[in-house]
Amino acid sequence: MDCLKKKIVEEGKVLSPSVIKVDAFLNHQIDPVLMKEIGEEFASRFKELGITKVLTLESSGIAPAQMTALSLGVPAIFARKKKSLTMKDHLYTSKVHSFTKQETNEISISKDFMTEDDHVLILDDFLANGQAAKGLIDLIEQSGASIAGVAIVIEKGFQDGGRLLRRQGIKVESLATLSSLEGSTITFETQEVSS
Ligand code: 5GP
Repeated sequence: MDCLKKKIVEEGKVLSPSVIKVDAFLNHQIDPVLMKEIGEEFASRFKELGITKVLTLESSGIAPAQMTALSLGVPAIFARKKKSLTMKDHLYTSKVHSFTKQETNEISISKDFMTEDDHVLILDDFLANGQAAKGLIDLIEQSGASIAGVAIVIEKGFQDGGRLLRRQGIKVESLATLSSLEGSTITFETQEVSS
C-alpha cells in the first residue's frame, strides 16, 4: 500500500535494527485519513470471507481495526491487557509476551462477544514474532469461533511471525512488509507476501 509505505519512510523512526517507531500516525498520534484507507484496503482483501467480527489487541490495533470493521459492516472487539473492575469473570484469557515492552500480559475478551457462530478477522498494527496473533488465535479457539485470517498494517518480514502463521495455513495480509531496518535504512519487500 503505497501511501502507507510513504508515511513509514517519511515519519517512521528506526530505533534499532529490529524496531521502528511510528508514533506520528499509528501508535500515538493517529492519522484518521490513513486509517480509513487502511480499513478499506483490508475490507477489500477479506470481504468474500463472511467475517462477523474484527478482533485486535489494545491499544494500537484499535484504530485500524475499527475502520476495517466499519468497512466490513461488523463490530470490532479489542482484547484487554488488564482486567478491570467491570470485567473480571466470564472471560476467555490467554498470555502474550510483548516484543517491544518485554513483558507478559494476560489478555482477555468477554465471552459475551464471541461465539462459535463467529468468523473472525484478527488485526494488529505490527507482526514481529507472532506472539500477539498467537494469543488472539487462542481466544478465538476457546470460544469455538473460526479464524478468517490475519490483517497486519506493518509486517517485519525479517522476524518469524508471518512465516509461522502462513505455515499453519492462515491467510495473512500485510499492507507493508519491511525486509530490513539495518543501518537505520527502511527497506520494504518488493513483493508483498500473502497466502
Ligand atoms: P509480535 O507479537 O508479533 O512479536 O509483535 C507484535 C506486537 O508488538 C504488536 O502488537 C506491536 O504493538 C508490537 N511491535 C512489534 N514490533 C514493533 C515495532 O517495530 N514497532 C512498534 N511500534 N511496535 C512493535
